[in-house]
This record gives sequence, C-alpha cells and structure tokens, in this order.
Amino acid sequence: MSMGTPIDQQWARVRGRLREEVGEATYKSWLKPLTLAGIEDGEVRIAVPTRFMRDWVVTHFVDRLRALWAIENAGIEGVDIVVAKTRPIAVEPPCMPADRRKHESDSEKTPAPAVISALSDAEIGAQLDPRFTFDSFVVGKPNELAHAAARRVAEASRVTFNPLFLYGGVGLGKTHLMHAIAAHIRRQQPDRRVLYLSAEKFMYQFIRALRYKHTVGFKEMFRSVDVLMIDDVQFISGKESTQEEFFHTFNALVDQNRQVVISADKSPSDLEGMEERLRSRLGWGLVADIHPTTYELRLGILQAKSERQQTVAIPDKVLEYLAHKITSNVRELEGALNRLVAHAELVGRPVTLESTQELLHDLLRANDRRVTIDEIQKKVAEHFNIKLADMHSARRSRSVARPRQVAMYLAKQLTARSLPEIGRKFGGRDHTTVMHAVRKIDELCAGDRAFAEDVELLRRMLEN
Ligand code: ADP
Ligand code: MG
Repeated sequence: MSMGTPIDQQWARVRGRLREEVGEATYKSWLKPLTLAGIEDGEVRIAVPTRFMRDWVVTHFVDRLRALWAIENAGIEGVDIVVAKTRPIAVEPPCMPADRRKHESDSEKTPAPAVISALSDAEIGAQLDPRFTFDSFVVGKPNELAHAAARRVAEASRVTFNPLFLYGGVGLGKTHLMHAIAAHIRRQQPDRRVLYLSAEKFMYQFIRALRYKHTVGFKEMFRSVDVLMIDDVQFISGKESTQEEFFHTFNALVDQNRQVVISADKSPSDLEGMEERLRSRLGWGLVADIHPTTYELRLGILQAKSERQQTVAIPDKVLEYLAHKITSNVRELEGALNRLVAHAELVGRPVTLESTQELLHDLLRANDRRVTIDEIQKKVAEHFNIKLADMHSARRSRSVARPRQVAMYLAKQLTARSLPEIGRKFGGRDHTTVMHAVRKIDELCAGDRAFAEDVELLRRMLEN
C-alpha cells in the first residue's frame, strides 16, 4: 500500500481535517485547488492557481493551515502561500461564476441562473449533518445556556427572543446546535420554512445575485423564510456590501416576527469589522456563549461517543486520559477517538492506555504544547500578586508558598511534565515536594469553594 512520502501523507491529513472543519462547499471552493509545493527550512510552501485565491486563502485559512501542520509535523513553523505559475491551472475556483460563466452572461439571451433554484429545499436540507441532533449533544456547564436556548427556539411555535446569537471558540458545538435546531423544526413543524446557511454562502449568493442582476429574487428568497439561520457570521466582517444586505434582510425578518439564529466566534460587541448598528442589533435578543470545555464535559462527550460506536470497546481509563489531555476542543477530541477506533479495528488489538499514547502522541504533544510551566508560573504569580522570582525562591512564608503550590498543581494538571521535571522548574525542588503540593491543593479545593473556584479560573485562563 503506497501512499506517497510521509510529507504527502501529512498534507493529506491536514487537508482532511480542514475539510471537516470548513465543510464540503468551502473546501471545494477554496481548499481543494491547493497543492503542496515543497518544504524548506521549516516552512511549508503551498501553491494556489491564482492571486485572488492566494489572498483569500491567506486571509481566511492560513492560521488554520499553520496550526494543522504543526500538529502533523513538529518541525513546521510557517506556511507560505504562493501563486504557482509553472503548471497549467487545472482547477478553476468554483463559486466564482463571474469567471466561469462569462460567456453565458455576456450573451443577453442566456437567462441568468435563478438564485432561488440555487437554494432549493433539497440542497439546503442536504447541508444539514444528520449526526448533529439534540440527542447526540452532550450538555454540561459550559454549554447549558446555549443548549437550553437552542432547544427553546426549536420547540417554540412562537418567537421568544430574536435573534438567538450563539457564540464560542472553534469546535465547541455551534454548528452542531444550529443543525439540531433546523432538523428539529423541519421534523416537528414541516410547514415552517427553515433556511440554514453559512455566512460565507450567504455572501456568495448575494454576489451572485448582484452579478446576474437577480437581487430582487435574492431578497424575496431570504425574506420569505420563517426561520433564518446564519452560521459563522464573523465571516462577513469587513465585507461592507454583504453586511448591508444582511442587515436589511435581518431587520425585515425580525420586523415580521420571524426567527433569526446567528452564530459567531465572538460576542456581538467583539465582532471587529462589523458596522456598529449591525453589532448592536445582533445583541438585541438572547446572546448565549459556549465556554471552553471542562474535564467533566469532555469525559461525558467521549463516553457518549464511545457508546454510540459499538465496534471497539474503549476502557474508561483511556477515556479519562483523553479527556484530561485533549483540552483544545471537541473536534479534536472526536478526532482522537475516531483514530483509536479505526486503528483498533484495523489491527484487531484491544485499546490500551499504552497503545493510545503511542497512536496519538502527535495530537497529545500538540495539546501539551499549549501551555508551558513558565506561562503557568507567570499567570499564577500575577494572580496572587507575588514576584515571579518567588516561584523559584526558597522562601517558605504562606503568602508565597501557597501560590507556588497552586502553580505546581496546575503544572501537573496542564502539562505532560513529570513530577521531577516540575520540581526542577520550581527552583530545583524535589519531586516529593511537588507531590505534596498536588495533594495539598486537591485537599484545599475539596474543602474551600472559593479557593476551588480560584484555581478553576486560573486553569481556564491558562487553557485558552
Ligand atoms: P463549531 O461550529 O463551534 O466550530 P461544531 O459544532 O462543528 O463546532 O462541533 C465540532 C464537533 O464536535 C462536531 O462533530 C460536534 O458534533 C462535536 N461536538 C461539539 N460539542 C458537542 C457536544 N456538547 N456533544 C457532542 N458533540 C459535540
Ligand atoms: Mg461551525
């Protein structure tokens, strides 16, 4: 079985992940045409066929590309997007009907493609991921408000808050909740017209409507729905005319008491590049944020997903280990589980903690790299208002010893460092000192709620 060089395989995995993240339509439009041009001095060179695409990829995807490459290959530090002039352009950027259909639109006889048909029910329905339902959504503290609000919108026959604005970081379940709402309404109230689409798609449709002078149809289409759901609205930051159109659509729907549901990666007030009136309007209804996951939620999600797949048994110990180690987001957590299952099936051996560590070492390392002991010491010192030097000093007064113990405790929790390694980082202390600190903080957390919250807060700040 030959699959090219290791680099090719890494590139294939990067593309695969990106495809999962951005969805099929975006992937096809913008990412499929990318080719790997080479690696030099820790920098990956990726070629695109046109300048226009290069600019687009640089603004929208280069950070993700860099992050995904770093997961695959620790030696990669940067990603450079270049326009390839050497080879014939095999792939033209889709979703750019202006280029592709120039000849058609130039001749007056050819009718413009109807926007309405471009958004037929079948196509919209096909965009919903059938796995993203309320049933499969695991509720925990970080997402309970967003979940409750989503359920309310899905179950209500009347509009209660408008819009519902869901926001949170990447891979925390925004799209999942949006699809769950749409699917629920379609099933329970089939005569309500639900339109779900990404802000990106909204923009394409709008540009296309402008291009084919079909804006009236576009407006009618969007203003005739009962429920409009726009995912990842941050995408239209800085896109003035799209924002303008969106604003009018939005107002028209809200005025007619139609439900609008929006998601974004930031709160309305933090959306940069958005017009002030739009930002303030977006915050008028219910704004619900999804917080970063907690250990409990991660474990709950892993247990649910592991039960759902019935092919491979995953020991609790392994699930706990993953929940502990993979803290970035749910998507990575799922990815880890899928890899475990696929591997176990393939080699026909049971999953163990050792096989997990071996198989996922790259992913685990990427998650580890997120926070260093230095960062922990700095944050904790700041928080307790002591000098950074006291993390290493021999001073034993309570006012510095306690924060130092908290930092050791967090270092144990948040990094993969061993006790002796941690001890060394704290002024060459013994591993038993670290062990003692971990126990002490655990004890204090159990007995003192305020203290426990303090530690939890620090942990959260460090994890993000
Ligand atoms: P976002 O849109 O916020 O970037 P997604 O909704 O695409 O994130 O979620 C990423 C993946 O994680 C999806 O496969 C989704 O099903 C899963 N996921 C996220 N949160 C949960 C949850 N609470 N329970 C179950 N699966 C979840
Ligand atoms: Mg999403």
